[in-house]
Order: sequence, then C-alpha cells, then structure tokens
Amino acid sequence: MDGAPAIETSPAVLILLGPPGAGKGTQARLLEEEFGLVQLSTGDLLRAAVAAGTDAGKAAKAVMEAGDLVSDDIVIAILRDRLGDADVQRGVILDGFPRTTVQASALDALLLETGQKINAAISLEVDDGEMVTRISGRYTCGGCGEGYHDTFKQPETAGTCDKCGAADMKRRADDKAETVGQRLQAYHAQTAPLISYYDGKGVLQSVDAMGNIHNIAAALAQIVRDATRPN
Ligand code: AMP
Repeated sequence: MDGAPAIETSPAVLILLGPPGAGKGTQARLLEEEFGLVQLSTGDLLRAAVAAGTDAGKAAKAVMEAGDLVSDDIVIAILRDRLGDADVQRGVILDGFPRTTVQASALDALLLETGQKINAAISLEVDDGEMVTRISGRYTCGGCGEGYHDTFKQPETAGTCDKCGAADMKRRADDKAETVGQRLQAYHAQTAPLISYYDGKGVLQSVDAMGNIHNIAAALAQIVRDATRPN
C-alpha cells in the first residue's frame, strides 16, 4: 500500500499458521495494509481456479467442498506460479500455506532458489470449540473482501458493505457446520505438525488469537517488525 512504512529487509516471508476460523485471513489483510506486503492465500487462489474452471480448479472443487486438503502437487504448483508475479517481490504473508510437511519442504526449496528465508511462522492459538461458531456465521463482501459475521460483526445496513458500499455478500461453500468439523480434523492431522517443524527452525512465534482483533493485530505487527529488522 502506498505510504506504508517500509519493511527493513526485503523481501520478507511470513507464514500464518492456525486452524480454519483462527483469523488468518483477517490478520493477513491488516498486515498487508500496514506493511505493504502481499497476502497470499492458497484458499483464495484455489477458489479462483474453481471459479475459472481450470484443470486445477476442477480437481480441487469436490475436495474443498468436503473439507479435505487439495493435493500437494496442485497447491505447490499454484503457489509457485503466484510467487513469480512481480507484485509479490516486496514480500509475502502466506495465509493457509503450507498445510502439510511436504508443502513446507517445497517452500524451503523454493526459497532456497530465490535466496529468501522465512522471517517468522506465526501460530494463531485458538480454542477449537469456538471455531465452528466463528466459521459458520461468517461472510464477506464480494466487492472489497471485508469480513462480516452473523453474530459478531453485522454491517450497518443489512447486506451492504460498510467499507465499499457494495451489496454483494458472499458465503463460502465450505463454511457449513458439517464441513467445518472435517476441516478442523484435517488441520490437526496434517497442519498442526508444522508448529514443531518451524519451532525446530527457530522461526516460530505464537499469539493468543482468542481476543480482540485489534490487540491481536498489534501483537502480530510487533512480531513482523522484529522479524524483519536487519541483524
Ligand atoms: P482456506 O481458504 O485457507 O480455509 O482454504 C479453503 C480450502 O482450500 C481448504 O479447506 C482446502 O480444501 C483448500 N486449501 C487451501 N490451501 C490449501 C493448502 N495449502 N493445501 C491443501 N489444501 C488447501
């Protein structure tokens, strides 16, 4: 974003870890605004591929609707392509990637090629029980992506975005209560092991992500400042 304070080392690589509903997308968007980094969500890239009807999208659609993980090959290929785009050269916040140890190794290999390193992998710590309520009530503005929730954050005028004025609210197909349980299970079985993977690399940071969005954002911003400061 224009006018955003410069990240002191560049390009930064930050990873947000946490179960579905932990707030990865919301926090990534706030960090994007504050630091001028680019949020890179494999979920968004996959949903775009599904909407565009690409081969990858066709292969991913049913898997996503069932709440399972899309195959590593597809996700790694999509991420590799996106990382080659000019706009991400300033630095990225990975939101929803990696989700398996195979993806984490592939990311290490990609970064080795480009001479980059992971500045921090930040684990958003939440109570699982709350996640079903959080996810099953959420929706976003199709115009600007602002997030809303049936219980926690309704727009001033029902159906109209406070931020951009669009009347185009969208709910994700996989945000149904039935699917959320499967997504949480996939997280614990396949993604949670990455917490110790990044701890072993000395880049893990943990944040209590059950509180106020702005307090969590402040904690994350401090981690990003510290993790991107030149040695
Ligand atoms: P998200 O928007 O991050 O919650 O992702 C939505 C869905 O996309 C997930 O439930 C998976 O089916 C799929 N997905 C997103 N990112 C990945 C990934 N890194 N590996 C495998 N599947 C993914």
